[in-house]
Amino acid sequence: MNRTGKILVIGACGQIGSELTHALRERYGSAQVIAGDRLSAASHAGPGNPYVQLDVLDKALLSQIVAHEDISQIYHLAAVLSATGEKEPQLAWQINMQGLLNVLDVAVAAGVEKVFWPSSIAVFGPDSPKENCPQQAVTEPTTVYGISKCAGEYWCNYYHKKFGLDVRSLRFPGLISYLAAPGGGTTDYAVDIFHKAVETAEYVCYLEANTLLPMMYMSDAIRATMELMDANAENLTVRTSYNLAGLSFTPAEIAQAIAKRIPEFRIAYAPDFRQQIAESWPGSIDDHMAREDWGWKPEFDLEDMVDEMLRGIKITV
Ligand code: NAD
Repeated sequence: MNRTGKILVIGACGQIGSELTHALRERYGSAQVIAGDRLSAASHAGPGNPYVQLDVLDKALLSQIVAHEDISQIYHLAAVLSATGEKEPQLAWQINMQGLLNVLDVAVAAGVEKVFWPSSIAVFGPDSPKENCPQQAVTEPTTVYGISKCAGEYWCNYYHKKFGLDVRSLRFPGLISYLAAPGGGTTDYAVDIFHKAVETAEYVCYLEANTLLPMMYMSDAIRATMELMDANAENLTVRTSYNLAGLSFTPAEIAQAIAKRIPEFRIAYAPDFRQQIAESWPGSIDDHMAREDWGWKPEFDLEDMVDEMLRGIKITV
């Protein structure tokens, strides 16, 4: 990062954005990090915490903000997630694709030094390997969200090769956190289950008991993002998006881990349309490229994550 340039986080009010903005402000100073989201009221606003109301589809406004604020890094998180995307496919395509293209175009035109954009395990499809799914596996996603992430990865690679834009990306698994609510993904159950466990000791899960999915505790995801952005450009051999693994578990396994701490906790299963989405994804991910290229290593296993989630939710309720 150059010494004077600021950071813009787009989608800063979301599940990842709220924690990433906080982590970036801790590191670079609040005034250096501008939170942007299409929402008007934001917990990120206030004295010393710059906030802009910004729809990423408004390219002119985006361009103006990047120029006026001397932005040198953009973290572009605004998107429509997998489950919501199946209900509103056109909207998902527009925001996920056009939003990314706007960011990439503006970044090239303004000479932004680095861009971060998250992809997802949703790029994989039913024909991808289920176990330790490799970096270069067949993708063939079946959701509009996955299609947009798959195409987005190739656009990032294209802007890197064609315009020299230093755009970096991670294929996040389902992210688990207690500060901000999840935004309409297929893995949201792994957050909701903790809130229900603490509030009522009961949870009805929309996935079947044995549905294995890749997940990650949020602090690992924030650290992965910052470590990737800190890495030397010449070490990065993947310019589409890096596979990234944390832990994998089923609803039955997480329920069992919660019941060890809350013995009266009960789970029931009522699978809905999200079961089919979950079944199209791998159960575990091979992330050796991230480990080799920039030293990635997750810290949170299932037991650590369950302890942290229950502690965090009990403090905040
Ligand atoms: P979220 O839904 O919680 O937050 C998205 C934020 O973007 C919201 O605050 C929303 O108001 C904002 N937004 C939506 N449309 C916008 C627009 N047109 N202009 C400006 N802001 C807009 O999502 P999240 O979970 O924080 O995910 C962030 C990114 O990470 C997304 O690209 C998502 O695909 C990716 N990702 C998330 C997960 C996960 O488990 N959370 C997993 C894989 C990938």
